[in-house]
Amino acid sequence: MDQQWSARDQHRDAVLALLHRGHQLTRGEISHRLRLTRTTVSDLLGDLLESGVITVTESRAAAGRGRPAEVLGIHPGAVRYIGIDFFHTGATICLANSAAEVVATGTVDYEPGAGWERRVATAQRLIGDLTTGEVHLGVLAGIGIGLPGPNSASWDGFAHRERPMEPFHMVRARIRELFADSFDCPVLVDHHIRFAALHEATSSGESDRHIVYLRLSTGVGGAVLGSGSALRGAHLLAGEIGHMIVETGPEAAECRCGRRGCLETVASQGAVRQRWQDIAGPDAGVESAPDATPTPVADPVTLAGLEAALVAEDPRALALVTDLARTVGRALGLAALVTDPDEIVLAGEVAVLLEPVLPVLRETVAQNCLTGADLELRIASATTQQGARGAIAALRSTDQLPDYFAASRTSRSPYLTSGGRHVR
Ligand SMILES: [Zn+2]
Repeated sequence: MDQQWSARDQHRDAVLALLHRGHQLTRGEISHRLRLTRTTVSDLLGDLLESGVITVTESRAAAGRGRPAEVLGIHPGAVRYIGIDFFHTGATICLANSAAEVVATGTVDYEPGAGWERRVATAQRLIGDLTTGEVHLGVLAGIGIGLPGPNSASWDGFAHRERPMEPFHMVRARIRELFADSFDCPVLVDHHIRFAALHEATSSGESDRHIVYLRLSTGVGGAVLGSGSALRGAHLLAGEIGHMIVETGPEAAECRCGRRGCLETVASQGAVRQRWQDIAGPDAGVESAPDATPTPVADPVTLAGLEAALVAEDPRALALVTDLARTVGRALGLAALVTDPDEIVLAGEVAVLLEPVLPVLRETVAQNCLTGADLELRIASATTQQGARGAIAALRSTDQLPDYFAASRTSRSPYLTSGGRHVR
């Protein structure tokens, strides 16, 4: 009995491998390629069609007088990869099929003060909400989870005097375990900024870019990519440009890493908003801007007032972002000096504010590295999905079904059960 099931599972895997990455074939072509009888293939495809794993994509006219042949492909709603970006205030989730098309996505805020246990539960609930109708996890191959750096919440909330912080590598292990248990699939965990950088590096189709990536958002995170893969370092701290010290005076603000004067303390969303409020006072327009566009991340802090002042060419606002461009430019220039990238990519809501002062930013970077003005620098389009999409790119590159021939050499099936996997 076991052997029969095993042979059937192998055939099922072989069909999925054939149709993986958007390939489409007729029943006859599948039967020919797999050297299986039409009856066996027909039976197998019937089950896969019924469970929504594959679908008829078109009818192909027969050469002679025969009936048109149905062309089959993986169902667009069959989710193969789940990418999750846990940022400081919420999580963004993208579900992608085997052709790497994102078929469902959502963002959810954590409750204030929520620790990782509740954050994970919140994200798992969202996955449950997203897998409705034709979107299902029947062929899920893996989950990629992007996490913020070590200075985050603990398992059951934020640290206070009586309760010391649990080391973040322990928290990370528990997060991985929870997802692996709930979804019964491999789980890939990395810094969410590294995943975002990977998305930027691979979205153009080139896979071997050297990139310095910096995201200026609720936090300031960096990553360095060499030949298309992110440098992780001995302690998973490579590329933490946000914690480069940029202020050393007595005014230097305390950072969430416990030190003072990090780039994050002057270039994060909260820091920039505070600075604008200090400069502009009652006309900062932060709380009361009537047409304030909500920020992409769910954070009460908005930069709408400063944005409006920049549009109106308020000299105080321009002075603020010019100063910011010089500070950010110095940090990026040093990162470029050490890593010699093809390109510097800036992302996040604060980065968008630097658009009017890009020449200042470029000039400062050039002064601080050896590649000077030749070094490309761009501001990525504002989206909350880079981290989750980058996690999907990472999962794709490690997928056990890269192509049919590779899969046919694999002795152990990546599909451990003949049924679908469901969120518990
Ligand atoms: Zn810091």
